[in-house]
Amino acid sequence: MTGVALVTGASRGIGRAVALKLASDGFAVVVNYASNSAKADEVVAQIRGAGGKAIAVQADVGDQDAVSAMFEVVTEQLGPITVLVNNAGITDDGLLLRMSVDQWDRVITTNLRSVYLCTKAALRSMIRAKAGRVINISSVSGVSGNAGQANYAASKAGVIGFTKSTAKEVGSRGITVNAVAPGFISTDMTDALGDEVTGAAAAQISLGRLGSPEEVASVVGYLASDGASYITGQTIVVDGGLAL
Ligand code: NAP
Repeated sequence: MTGVALVTGASRGIGRAVALKLASDGFAVVVNYASNSAKADEVVAQIRGAGGKAIAVQADVGDQDAVSAMFEVVTEQLGPITVLVNNAGITDDGLLLRMSVDQWDRVITTNLRSVYLCTKAALRSMIRAKAGRVINISSVSGVSGNAGQANYAASKAGVIGFTKSTAKEVGSRGITVNAVAPGFISTDMTDALGDEVTGAAAAQISLGRLGSPEEVASVVGYLASDGASYITGQTIVVDGGLAL
């Protein structure tokens, strides 16, 4: 599979590593971001410097109009999307009894509504092409739950249900839909937890360390490759043995 890959939240962390991986595999890459244009431009420059094709497109993926505008720009500049990686995500943790409605809505909108909006927009051209890959970044929190993350875990479990349902809907059109559920990966998101929390997390991981964004990106790259043509509706856990 080649063509155009749109990676949401690709200015930093896992999304950045996914964008670089898909570019090195020959895709023209759309580096979506929310506000960090300098970081998104760096990713684009790195891809172009290596001889690849990339553009940066700002869009809040939880916003319907912004998503529509992004797909218009991308289709105009690069053509129809063949691979969509729904990666953009945030946390806003707190115990449920102290969790505000705003905290709940913000996380569900950015992590789950975005997956609905972007997948719906991408599927139109994929159905026409009778081919395509949708890869959704969930989390082990969505598989096992996590105290203090009711909003985040609900959004990520929602992504898994969405993945299975959509895979059933579009399988006959030659489109696969899968999820990847990372454990603790070293990014700004986990840096925010502090050394004490990440140290305690590492102690629970069979491999004894946090994962790297590249270790998640390689799995996404595989799911986007021809080798993964008969895999759909699955959630692949990439957690170094955390859930064992
Ligand atoms: P990160 O380092 O915090 O980066 C988040 C990325 O998402 C940034 O590129 C950010 O753009 C973008 N983003 C945030 N809100 C957005 C919005 N409304 N619209 C468009 N883009 C938006 O996060 P990460 O750790 O790489 O996480 C990436 C994904 O993996 C998330 O879905 C996360 O839930 C999931 N995940 C992460 C871990 C982990 O341990 N790190 C574990 C399991 C799952 P700006 O730079 O413009 O802010």
